[in-house]
Amino acid sequence: MSLYAAPVARLIEEFEKLPGIGRKTAQRLAFHVMNMPVEKVEGLANAIREARTRIKYCSVCSNLTDVDPCSICSNPSRDSSVICVVEDPRDVAAMERTREFKGLYHVLHGAISPMEGIGPEDIKIKELLERVRKNNIAEIILATNPNIEGEATAMYIAKLLKPLGIKTTRLAHGIPVGGDLEYADEVTLAKALEGRREI
Ligand SMILES: [Zn+2]
Repeated sequence: MSLYAAPVARLIEEFEKLPGIGRKTAQRLAFHVMNMPVEKVEGLANAIREARTRIKYCSVCSNLTDVDPCSICSNPSRDSSVICVVEDPRDVAAMERTREFKGLYHVLHGAISPMEGIGPEDIKIKELLERVRKNNIAEIILATNPNIEGEATAMYIAKLLKPLGIKTTRLAHGIPVGGDLEYADEVTLAKALEGRREI
């Protein structure tokens, strides 16, 4: 039997399902909510609901967006002949923070990982190839994370792009191996972009 009234126990349970939140933090959050004014709680609940219902995948790049195509894909001042392929929408944000990249993105939503049972068909590789075939692309920058899964994904995509004769590059090292693009600082990421090499 729970020590808490059923609605509180349920809230704790829901918080606990979130990534990086253990039992203790879930309890702390639940009790924080209990002490919030009702209108603030409604604001929080609405923000969660709206973010989830209004945000969808961009039909071009698969980044998260509330308008389709997203603001990057529909920006005429971006160079549509260069596509930077990343694993996650957070990587787009990281690249944008560098202010160095003027091309477009393609978000894979994951990386190939046989260990976790994620194959090429589980991430947005098919969509990337379709996009490359339909558009005039000069360069594809493979900016997947510098870990085993990210490298395997980059190699897999490079192999598929080879017959199409498109220049394919990989970010230079400088991003710590085993690291996450998302956590690289702007200067490191900008340097990695600048020093990208053809594969
Ligand atoms: Zn887009």
